[in-house]
Amino acid sequence: MTTIARVSGRDGNNLVGGSWEPAASGETLEVKSPYTGARIGAVPNSSSVDVERAVTAAAAAFPAWAATPLKERVRPLQRFYEIVTRHSDDLAGLVALESGKTPAEALAGIQRGLEVVEFAISLPNLDRGGALDVSRGVTCEYRREPLGVVAGITPFNFPAMVPMWMFPIALVLGNAFVLKPSDKVPLSACRLGELMLEAGLAPGLFSIVHGGKAVVEALVDHPQIRALGFVGSTAVARAVHGRATALGKRALCLGGAKNHLIVAPDADEAMTVKGVVDSFTGCAGQRCMAASVLVVVGDASRFVDKIVAAANKLELGTTMGALIDPAARQRLHAAIGEAEQAGARVLLDGRAQPAPNGYEGGNWLGPTVLDDVRPEMNCAKTELFGPVLSIIHVNHLDQALSLERDSPYGNAVSIFTSSGAVARYVSERATSGMVGVNIGVPVPRDPFSFGGTKDSRFGQGDITGPGGVELWSNLKKITTKWALTSDANWMS
Ligand code: NAD
Repeated sequence: MTTIARVSGRDGNNLVGGSWEPAASGETLEVKSPYTGARIGAVPNSSSVDVERAVTAAAAAFPAWAATPLKERVRPLQRFYEIVTRHSDDLAGLVALESGKTPAEALAGIQRGLEVVEFAISLPNLDRGGALDVSRGVTCEYRREPLGVVAGITPFNFPAMVPMWMFPIALVLGNAFVLKPSDKVPLSACRLGELMLEAGLAPGLFSIVHGGKAVVEALVDHPQIRALGFVGSTAVARAVHGRATALGKRALCLGGAKNHLIVAPDADEAMTVKGVVDSFTGCAGQRCMAASVLVVVGDASRFVDKIVAAANKLELGTTMGALIDPAARQRLHAAIGEAEQAGARVLLDGRAQPAPNGYEGGNWLGPTVLDDVRPEMNCAKTELFGPVLSIIHVNHLDQALSLERDSPYGNAVSIFTSSGAVARYVSERATSGMVGVNIGVPVPRDPFSFGGTKDSRFGQGDITGPGGVELWSNLKKITTKWALTSDANWMS
């Protein structure tokens, strides 16, 4: 496994029509590593001019690709799967360097992304359409068609995986895809672009335009962009969805989260402690599926000491990664201080943990556990997006469920219990889109689709699995009459 000290950064460019090019303005954005705070590369700070160039090249490549049979369209994606698998350690090193994850977490994200590629290349077998004789000599048939040029806008916390949630399915379905990666982690996307070219995808079908808000707005507004996938914070997801749908476009925009983990008194101790700690500390808490609020039901309080002890064993820089930037660190320090002021007890204070040797310039915060949190406190309500667990004690399961129901977010909830009846009770009543039973990070794996509800998702459907197929295609319905006689009613 790669270690961060051995990974070097690089400069990147936009990928337009199969060639790498700077922004028309020549402007660039610096990329810094969360491990050290040092500059590790730069990418173009693009504008609508660069979006126009990429979309024009994509639109030129689209017709031939759309006319290519599905069984042939999967071929470059099959090669991409092999190439990414071969390069996954190096890619994981780059993902870790620019996002602050540990190399092991980065590798796990790439493997999860590859599962979506696997799903996409299975589509000739999984999604064969359908036909039925509906009357004498009359057949109704489904034909799945691409949309044209589509775009994906992705967040910082999974530099390779979240783009891979989108482009493999969109491409296999016959679209041309334009990616706008997070400006905080654009280098892994460049590497994915290189590997896609190596896989032999025709120029223009996969494009990358780096930048920020201006690029997102230009993509949303561009008349040739037919559909958008967005993953990021709730405020931006809502805004992008509103702007796209006002223009009559299809958009699925996944937003932030505030996930509740509920522990029942009969939960298995070892499984619960590991599940909770992995969930709130993994990727330094910067996952939309991370545990944020632990709701302890009744005398399940005995779990708390064990959770604190297990979290305290994690080592920054080896078993736990860094926060994305100094602003995130400041925001989290302030949130912990505010919770303390509001009456929460700090059982484990990550602010006190020193930076690992050699990484003093990085954005570090150790695992933090806040007990006696009340539902009205900020740390119980807002997405903190860091390794901070807020513990609320309740007497009954229904109180735990109403905390989950009252949250404006609806990404994930988990129940830890030894009772199938309790698990079913929670699964049936929870409002989140993804429910876990004895699992701290209940990510549905393909072919099951990923997606939340409420303020965690704007638009219809899910981003991966069959949800992704619906997002990136249209079903055309064809009714054909081939009959020797015209005997008939009006439907024949
Ligand atoms: P973000 O919303 O700041 O950025 C997401 C993307 O939008 C980036 O490409 C960014 O450049 C762009 N962007 C930022 N501000 C914009 C603006 N004002 N207008 C248009 N575009 C803008 O999110 P982030 O900080 O990169 O990622 C963390 C967030 O993403 C968290 O809230 C997390 O919960 C969420 N997330 C959700 C899921 C999910 O599946 N629901 C998955 C991963 C991350």
